[in-house]
Amino acid sequence: MLELMRTVRLKLIVSSEQAVALQTTLQANREALNYTSQVAYEKGGISAFKQLQQFVYRDLRDKFGLKSQMACNVCSTVASTYASAKSNNRLVHAIYKHSKVVYSYNRDYTVQVDDQTVSIGTLNKRIKVPFLVGNNYRPYLDPSLWEFGSAELVPTRKGYALHVVVKRAMDEPIPQACDAVIGVDRGMNFLAVATNHHDETMFYKGRPIKNKKAKYVRLRKALQRQGTRSAKRKLQRTAGRENRFMTNINHQVANAIIAFAKQSGNKPCIVLEDLTHINLRATVRLADRYWRFSWAFAQLETFIRYKALAEGILVLSVSAKYTSQKCPKCGHTERANRDKQNHRFTCKACHYTLNDDLVGARNIRDRGVEQRHQIETIGA
Ligand SMILES: [Zn+2]
Repeated sequence: MLELMRTVRLKLIVSSEQAVALQTTLQANREALNYTSQVAYEKGGISAFKQLQQFVYRDLRDKFGLKSQMACNVCSTVASTYASAKSNNRLVHAIYKHSKVVYSYNRDYTVQVDDQTVSIGTLNKRIKVPFLVGNNYRPYLDPSLWEFGSAELVPTRKGYALHVVVKRAMDEPIPQACDAVIGVDRGMNFLAVATNHHDETMFYKGRPIKNKKAKYVRLRKALQRQGTRSAKRKLQRTAGRENRFMTNINHQVANAIIAFAKQSGNKPCIVLEDLTHINLRATVRLADRYWRFSWAFAQLETFIRYKALAEGILVLSVSAKYTSQKCPKCGHTERANRDKQNHRFTCKACHYTLNDDLVGARNIRDRGVEQRHQIETIGA
C-alpha cells in the first residue's frame, strides 16, 4: 500500500473581525511555541510529547488561552523539533520566528466542500470562513477519494491561507498488469510527444509558450538595463509571474499526457526518459533557450509522476541514450539519421522515414515495453 499526500492551499476570505481573531490566534500560538520550547530546552531538550505536555499544558491553556487541541499541537510541534535536534546530536534552543497554527481535522477544523467554507478554531470560538481554491487543487477536495489530515494556518502577504494536507491510500501499480505502454518524449519544439502501442500520437506544441517566453526575456532585459530599484522590484514580480506561468503549463501538459494514457488502455503505463544523469543545463542551453529553467523540465516529470500515481498509472524510466538517433524499425543508430533542419528522420540503413519528433517517443515506448518484458520474465 502507498499513501499519497498532497497539500492543498485554501485562500481564506476573512471579514475584518475574523482577521483580528486569526491574528490574535497566530500571535498567541507563536508565544506558546516559544514558551514551550524554552521549557523543553531548559529541561535538557524534552522530545517526548507526553512529558512535555505534563509541564506546560496548564500554562498553555491558562496563560496563552489556547484551546485543548491547539495546546496539544503546540506540544507535539515542539517535541518533534527537539526529537530531530537530538537525532542530529545538536541540542539548541529552538525559536519559532514565523507564526503558524497547526490544526487537526475534526478536532479544531473542518472543511465544507459544498458551500466552500472552513470552520477553524480561534482563541475565543470557531469561525466559519469562505475560501478560494485553485483549479489545480480542486480535485483533492473530493471527500470520496481524499481524506483530510492536519492543516496549517499561515499569514500571507495579503491575508491568510490554510494549507490542508489530504491523504489517500492506494495499491502500488504493478507492471505485470499493464495493457498499454505510452512513450513520452519531452522537448523544445513540442513540450511533449506521446505515442502508444497502436502508434496513436499526441503532440503538445511548444510554440505559443515559446513566444510568450520570448516576451518575458525581452521584458527582463529591458528591466535589467534600467537597473533602478523599482525596476528590480518589477523584475522580481515578473520572475514570479513567469514561474507561475510555467507551472500552469506543466500542469496542463501533465494532464494531457494522463488523459492520453487513460484513453490508450485500462491499465496504462507511462515511460519517461531518465534524465538524472544528463547535464540538463548544458543540453538545454545548447538546444533551446526556452528551457532556460531546468527546474521547469524537472517539474513536468514530478507532475506526471504525481498525477499518474493518483490514477494508479505506473511510470517507468528508461535510458535516454540515443533515443533521437536510433531507427525504431531496424535499430540502426547514427547521428546522421536525423535531419533536424527539415524535422525528418531517415534511417541510413533501412531508409525508414518518420517525423523526427516522433522518433524519441517511439524509442522510449519500445524501451519501456522491453523493460516490462524483463520484469515479467525475471520477476523482479
Ligand atoms: Zn532502420
